[in-house]
Amino acid sequence: MRSLNTALACGQYWFKRKLASFDTGSKRKVFQHRGYCPICEKAVTFHADDAWFRDHLVCSDCSSIPRERALFKVLADYFPNYRDLAIHESSPCGRGASVKLNALCKGYSASQYYPDVAPGEVHPQSGYRCENLEELTFPDNSFDLFVTQDVMEHIFDSGKAFQEIARVLRPGGAHIFTAPLINKVKKSECWASRAENGSVVYHHPAEYHGNPIDENRALVTMHWGYDIASFITRVAGMPTVIVMIDDIDKGIRAEYIDVIASFKAE
Ligand SMILES: [Zn+2]
Repeated sequence: MRSLNTALACGQYWFKRKLASFDTGSKRKVFQHRGYCPICEKAVTFHADDAWFRDHLVCSDCSSIPRERALFKVLADYFPNYRDLAIHESSPCGRGASVKLNALCKGYSASQYYPDVAPGEVHPQSGYRCENLEELTFPDNSFDLFVTQDVMEHIFDSGKAFQEIARVLRPGGAHIFTAPLINKVKKSECWASRAENGSVVYHHPAEYHGNPIDENRALVTMHWGYDIASFITRVAGMPTVIVMIDDIDKGIRAEYIDVIASFKAE
């Protein structure tokens, strides 16, 4: 696994079944809507050339997709002073909320996970610092906000990762993230785990996100449901809310675009 990075976070081909219906030879638009992009902060057109809006309802200006606009809206609603905050993003995407936070926030930093780079060191080619969410090298109370976008469904020890994120957050800070809560009201299910010797144990047929023609796909480890909120509260002590938005005028309409916000006590 290269990292939970751009290919994953930008995953254009999220479900194979949707890939099958994606007609790359056609410029047809199945949907178009004039609205206001929360990321661009201006009037834009949202358009989709595929009915799977989660990956295809893009902003004409910043190319963001619905879950990115939802995440940014929730972040800015809870923390209108986000420009002044210390923000860390694990595995950022090269568009949408990641680009905006990087451009506007002096206190923004980002990391990726590379198995062949020591955590805390900078990858010589990409320039990203290497960080493993299960074992962050940052001191306690380092950040006001921690952001992840479609990452937490790929972590083997998600309990440890949520604890680590809570540790590096400052009191009053928050982890704001997206993860597809595909199980909805059903209990979360572990899809793949890691054995003592480091090998992968598959509890169900292996599933990957990211571009299926790219060998660096990311293994799905969890099928999360809405019980992710109580799980985070239990393991990491952070009260957690799930924000569900359907607002087509802001280009926020799709399956599995819930935004999860976990708050560290003041
Ligand atoms: Zn936009």
